[in-house]
Amino acid sequence: MGVRAVVFDWGGTLTPWHDVDLFAQWYAYAEVYDPENAASLAHRLQEHEARRWLQQRESNGAVAAGALDQLFLDEGIDINGARHLRALGSYLDFWAPHTHADPDAKDVLAALQQRGYRVGVLSNTMWPRAHHQEVFERDDLDEYIDAALYTSELPVAKPHADAFRTILEQLGTEPTDSVYVGDRLWDDIAGAQQVGMRAIWIPHSRIPDEQVPDATARPDAIAHRLLDVFSIVESWQ
Ligand SMILES: [Mg+2]
Repeated sequence: MGVRAVVFDWGGTLTPWHDVDLFAQWYAYAEVYDPENAASLAHRLQEHEARRWLQQRESNGAVAAGALDQLFLDEGIDINGARHLRALGSYLDFWAPHTHADPDAKDVLAALQQRGYRVGVLSNTMWPRAHHQEVFERDDLDEYIDAALYTSELPVAKPHADAFRTILEQLGTEPTDSVYVGDRLWDDIAGAQQVGMRAIWIPHSRIPDEQVPDATARPDAIAHRLLDVFSIVESWQ
């Protein structure tokens, strides 16, 4: 059966993997929100976040990590206050250099769209849609994406089957005529294959072992650079 849709993961896939200091991201927030107690606030936010990702992983995605706002609410922060919004700006500034698209991203998405494939994004993320949309607009990718699904808006997350089924519903395609592209063997490759999609692995991310409960999935293909995705998908037609 031919291919009608290609769905991409975001971090480590459309955007190359970066080793990010997870304490530093929260310190960037905390030093603006509460300069005198920045280190302790940053530690607490980091712990809230780690707990939520762990819960997501241990439930096999049945419970999503939730939305970024929830971390601040857990900490009793007024998410509509000016102080929070300034601090959130500092957090996003910290992230900006780590979110630039892969140099191949625009070319591969444009080539797929031009050949008539539906193009989707499915990302495990706590960020709201607006943050991701800003990044895609900055990097001129938004016009090539037919549907994007962020698990900050969902009750479930990858590798849960419903996450994959939901993006395919939005694209109007079936698992057997859809391909997933991701950098994680458990969340992405095993997750997509369990619903009947083919899966292409991007093998360059340095994912901590504890984030990979099972690395036995075998991808249908490996793309050593993102542009290879186009020729792999064409070879399956
Ligand atoms: Mg990824």
